[in-house]
Amino acid sequence: MKATSLPVFYPFLRRKHLSIWPVFIPFAGCPHRCSFCSQNAQTGTPPRPLSKVLEQLDFELAEALEKGRGPYELAFFGGTFTALPDQWPERFLHLAAKYREKGFISCVRCSTRPDAVTAENLARLKGLGLDMVELGIQSFDDAALEASGRGYGGNSARAACKLVREAGLRLGVQLMPGLPGDIPGLFRRDVETAVALAPDCVRLYPCVVMDGTPLAETWRNGEYSPWGLEHAKDELADALLAFGQAEIPVIRMGLAPEAEMNASLLAGPWHPAFGQSVRALALFRYLAPEIKGDHVIVAPNYLQGEIFGHANELKRRYASLGLGFRSIRFEGRDDFLLERGNLAVDPGAKIR
Ligand code: SF4
Repeated sequence: MKATSLPVFYPFLRRKHLSIWPVFIPFAGCPHRCSFCSQNAQTGTPPRPLSKVLEQLDFELAEALEKGRGPYELAFFGGTFTALPDQWPERFLHLAAKYREKGFISCVRCSTRPDAVTAENLARLKGLGLDMVELGIQSFDDAALEASGRGYGGNSARAACKLVREAGLRLGVQLMPGLPGDIPGLFRRDVETAVALAPDCVRLYPCVVMDGTPLAETWRNGEYSPWGLEHAKDELADALLAFGQAEIPVIRMGLAPEAEMNASLLAGPWHPAFGQSVRALALFRYLAPEIKGDHVIVAPNYLQGEIFGHANELKRRYASLGLGFRSIRFEGRDDFLLERGNLAVDPGAKIR
């Protein structure tokens, strides 16, 4: 019996759990509301004065510290952190520094727009303890950015990534495939551009239509069609492999389930198990070229539940390679072992 070892590469490595403490500041600092954006529904957080956010954050951090929890990465999401008015970035970072001194906060990250970063503001915020900036790039394509009313072009988006790097900050890139103005191949080019910029992490949020947004009106008028769910899975699986080969972690795919988000979602590629489906499809594309009909796959224990996808959605694809449930077993190992010749045809593979 021959056996071949196949490495588990980046998207499928055992992942360290990130303990992120999210702080949502919906629309704070945003110069306008982007056509697709519904931060309140997406984050389940109503708008609040920043003074209340700060006060509550201080209270909750103190309480968690008292209970012996942590450490956490503090993350400011949902607005344009670097453009907050009246010294608000500084106030939040001073609070974070207080808890970092106690060992409770290990890292501070924020999300912001590419046109809201400058060498000066990044240097100042880094000096106050900011570690990482996630840029809501959405696309590097001028036409898609213009059709989505983002207010900046692809060159600005690329330049912002360089500014973050030059400031000595870690860089996160958020992409939104399927925007108005999307054309076939555009997302693949955006992925290539993002890979070349070598961010420390990536988030991929396929564009969806949320009630109450300008995009909802465009969609109702028949002037915009979002990607279908299967198309989004297909495109993101290839993107996951491309980022994985470059060892760039994709830390989120699709919006997180939120009761308010689910109630506001009108159309577009969203499913609560979207990320699981995309990872499974990417894994299938990685393994399939190596598999001949009489293979048995021995996979790492921690990938149980990943290989056949959500609700075993890929069982037919594996069956088409001659593999059924019995052809895959799990062990405490860190690679895939492809064994040949010890199971001529798996009866389970005949499931149709
Ligand atoms: S997409 Fe970003 S910049 Fe635009 S409104 Fe939403 S949070 Fe603000």
